[in-house]
Amino acid sequence: MHELSVVTSIVKIVQQEVDKIKGKSVLELYLEIGKLSGVEMSSFYFVWPQCINGNILSNTKLFVEEPEGKARCAECETEFYIEKSFDSCPNCKSPFKEIIAGRELKIKKIIIK
Ligand SMILES: [Zn+2]
Repeated sequence: MHELSVVTSIVKIVQQEVDKIKGKSVLELYLEIGKLSGVEMSSFYFVWPQCINGNILSNTKLFVEEPEGKARCAECETEFYIEKSFDSCPNCKSPFKEIIAGRELKIKKIIIK
């Protein structure tokens, strides 16, 4: 499962950050997971408790932002929201576009005690 490796690497990165400043625990964790990132949020929340059990994140408050997918048409430069990366422009129907938001998969902020 893709989400399992995503969560595993998040835990690893956070652990490294905590070690760097010799922190004790993580109070809050802010993530950004775009709607086009390929992460299935129901699976994410399913594997999350298993992956944080007994480690540095076991008592952490989790905040997840899920930015909408957004694209700019390569033909007419219309900006539009997309649900799938193959959606075409609502103005001119062109399939050619640049994805400008929604692919985020990152740790925004870690609050360490
Ligand atoms: Zn267009």
